[in-house]
Amino acid sequence: MTHIILRHHDVENIHELSVYQANGGYEGLKKAFSLGPKAVIDEVKKAVVRGRGGAGFPAGLKWGFIPGGDMQKYIVINTDESETGTFKDREILEKNPHQVIEGALIAAYAVGATKIYNYWRGEYMDAAYACEKAIKDCYASGLLGENILGSGFSCDFYNHFGAGAYICGEETALLNSLMGDLGQPWSKPPFPAQEGLYGKPTVVNNVETLANIAPILVNGADWYVGLGTDQSNGIKVVCLSGHVNRPGNYEIEMGKVTYHQLIYGEEYGQGMRDDKGFKALLPSGGSGPVVTADALDADVSFEGLNPFGSMMGSASIIVMDEDTDMVWATEKMTHFFKHESCGKCTPCREGTFWLEKLLIKINKGRGTQEDIQKLERVATQIQGKCLCALGEFATSPVLSTIKHFMDEYKAKVNTAVPVPAD
Ligand code: SF4
Repeated sequence: MTHIILRHHDVENIHELSVYQANGGYEGLKKAFSLGPKAVIDEVKKAVVRGRGGAGFPAGLKWGFIPGGDMQKYIVINTDESETGTFKDREILEKNPHQVIEGALIAAYAVGATKIYNYWRGEYMDAAYACEKAIKDCYASGLLGENILGSGFSCDFYNHFGAGAYICGEETALLNSLMGDLGQPWSKPPFPAQEGLYGKPTVVNNVETLANIAPILVNGADWYVGLGTDQSNGIKVVCLSGHVNRPGNYEIEMGKVTYHQLIYGEEYGQGMRDDKGFKALLPSGGSGPVVTADALDADVSFEGLNPFGSMMGSASIIVMDEDTDMVWATEKMTHFFKHESCGKCTPCREGTFWLEKLLIKINKGRGTQEDIQKLERVATQIQGKCLCALGEFATSPVLSTIKHFMDEYKAKVNTAVPVPAD
């Protein structure tokens, strides 16, 4: 398969501007200049590029919400890639940075933004270095700064580092952090398209989403719509990790590859590590409900896991073998969410604390049957009561493992030493 996003697999040194340009780089931007802003938004809308960061909101619609007029507007690239098991945006920006810069420039031109901020997860220094060099080369070649390629359009690009908070992947928390405030979400409205960065209209797009834009302008929306399925157009980079022989990022056409193929296929995971049996997988890091072997024939797409009560999300697929202690794994995931809760709303702040406390008790063999019911009750009480999705996500590992692996919970509490009354 010819890669569209992970092009460094096909073209050596594509991170270099000269190589990128020799292979069609920045032709999408030139096409955008020839079409004009409105036609660019229409083309991206027609291509139905659903956001690749997890939420799946169409990029063209998001751009279309930005009001007209001469006020300051911003494009913000969300590189706060912090979902457990997700590492695709790092590879894209490290190995093929110009494709993201070009996508962001096209977005900026389309909505009338003159400044692009790239908000980085603080740990991604290597990728940031590659991107910083790419930005310098763009300024030196007239692809950033004043009057880009003689089009009359001017735009600047800034890298900004976060301090390592999962919640800053949520767009309003990211914007607060970028403005120097506490990285906590705000209650919408106002939406960033109305009042975003410094109170001005702002588009926040994921790295992978933006990497799709230039190829769409070069090849046309119809080409992109022809890839994938009706509900899931185009391509997706999936992050495969856990107990497989060959973990890594793989680019697939959405809806055309099953989870089974991803784990066992020669071109993907090459089977379970040490030939162990498959037990479960997390399709979307810790955020998506755990699925079991009956879901392996589902295809990787936005809709593929709907019948199994789960979701593709950012496609960070963590595979677990037959030896995995699912209650232990749930405790680890819950610890992550408790640690990353920003503390703004009580159900998430307190609920994740109690979920972890109960799981530790059960894992230490001190839990009772009632603790399993309490665990389920606390998780259910968090649902639907939080300001942002983190609270909801925190309940996924708990409720889905109780659903699929109740026998493992029972085995731990059945052997429990009775706990003395407080
Ligand atoms: Fe913060 Fe959790 Fe509330 Fe989100 S759900 S705003 S992370 S406390």
